[in-house]
Amino acid sequence: MPEENKIDSLLRRRGFIWQSSEIYGSLSGFYDYGHLGTLMKRKFENLWRSYFLGSDKNFFEISTSTIMPEEVFKASGHLDHFTDPVVKCKKCGFVERADQLLERQLHEKFEGLDKGELSHLIKKHNVKCPKCGGDLGEIEEINLMFPVDIGPYSKIRGYLRPETAQSSYLNFLREFNSLRKKLPMGLAIIGKAFRNEISPRQGVYRMREFTQAELQVFFDPEKINEAPSWEKIKDYKLRLTPVSSRDEVIEIACEEASTKLGLPRYYLYFMTLIQKFYVEILRVDKNKIRFFELSEEERAFYNKIHWDLEVNIEGFNGFGEIAGLHYRTDHDLKSHQNLSGKSQEVFHKGKRFIPHVIEVTFGVDRNIYALLELSCHKRDDKVVLSLPPKLAPFDCAVFPLVNKDGLDEKAEEIYNELRKYFNCFYDGSGSIGRRYARQDEIGTPLCITIDYDTMKDDTVTVRDRDTTKQVRVEIKDLKDKISEFLEES
Ligand SMILES: [Zn+2]
Repeated sequence: MPEENKIDSLLRRRGFIWQSSEIYGSLSGFYDYGHLGTLMKRKFENLWRSYFLGSDKNFFEISTSTIMPEEVFKASGHLDHFTDPVVKCKKCGFVERADQLLERQLHEKFEGLDKGELSHLIKKHNVKCPKCGGDLGEIEEINLMFPVDIGPYSKIRGYLRPETAQSSYLNFLREFNSLRKKLPMGLAIIGKAFRNEISPRQGVYRMREFTQAELQVFFDPEKINEAPSWEKIKDYKLRLTPVSSRDEVIEIACEEASTKLGLPRYYLYFMTLIQKFYVEILRVDKNKIRFFELSEEERAFYNKIHWDLEVNIEGFNGFGEIAGLHYRTDHDLKSHQNLSGKSQEVFHKGKRFIPHVIEVTFGVDRNIYALLELSCHKRDDKVVLSLPPKLAPFDCAVFPLVNKDGLDEKAEEIYNELRKYFNCFYDGSGSIGRRYARQDEIGTPLCITIDYDTMKDDTVTVRDRDTTKQVRVEIKDLKDKISEFLEES
């Protein structure tokens, strides 16, 4: 994955995203969102919220702490298994993930191989230190969690959570009892997670502090082959790359995927939901995405079924994971029951059991980056970000044609009215052409210009970013027209 892509400088220059603590040389794996990035991130999160939580009456959002005690991760398996294989150069001390080192030198993918297999490959291909050519030491398994000492004196060991999911599992029973004691029940969290990556050199693709949007769906395992409104989705075509055919994407209807690939209907229901989110809500060209199945060796031991949603962009050097769908069975609830001694069983429709979990997980930062790259193109040699209007940082911009004859005052008046309802930007400097170009570059879908006719007939010019067409709109209709446009697009 290249470190610097075509849009990285635009994202820095215009206020979307850049490495944090820049004046101190930046730490790898940490990023800050500027004013535009923050607006877009919030819009993405709100779209995700309304779409996934809106998909079921019994799905809700919770908000939980990022530091959790060691026991949580002992139970979840993160303490023992959330590790990366690392090699260190015996001569110069250079450290790198063993699978990534092999990947760079042999141009093949090795993620998921164990210590023994990686050691064997290093010896077989006589791989040396990429920095000094020295010999490499034995592979070590390094844990990727950030430890935290809690309390200045007591020093209780805790960790920054490596995924938001565990908080949903710990809160499951309390929510089940305070809601309607009904399954399926979904708990979503949008929040930070932390992974102490060994050598994050892949931009936003591998961050040490990042935002996840995760939905944990708790359900009765006996109902896994039942999907809501199956009749409506059974003919919907999913884009899949199963383990059995890694080199191609097959388009296959849910019905067929259930019979031929043995995927449970409830799992297919969520695959459909995710693919539709990308194609219908985020307006991503379906040819740019696919579901990629992970083999038994590649997926975490607790995932019984694991497909990633991948997007094909230059910044990820091909297909890269931006979301995932995991059938985690009862692994987490059962492990927490065993370690805490507190029963996690529910009594539901005459049966007592531990619910199973399907996890829908999104990397928010990777999604933002991918959506920015996908929408970036050139028109007459100028950059245009054709973001879906629902994701654009600003909904509209307001310009006075000139800053005199009362046009600027009128423009400010309109701007002050519109900003009550929309994310609205005011720009009074430079030629109109340059002002349009500046807004095109940050994806603002509508530009509103106040000119001399405005002073006569109370109309303004509204210009569409994608078509560059201009229409006259009466000021009194402006708010409704903008709302309509955003609603429909
Ligand atoms: Zn070396």
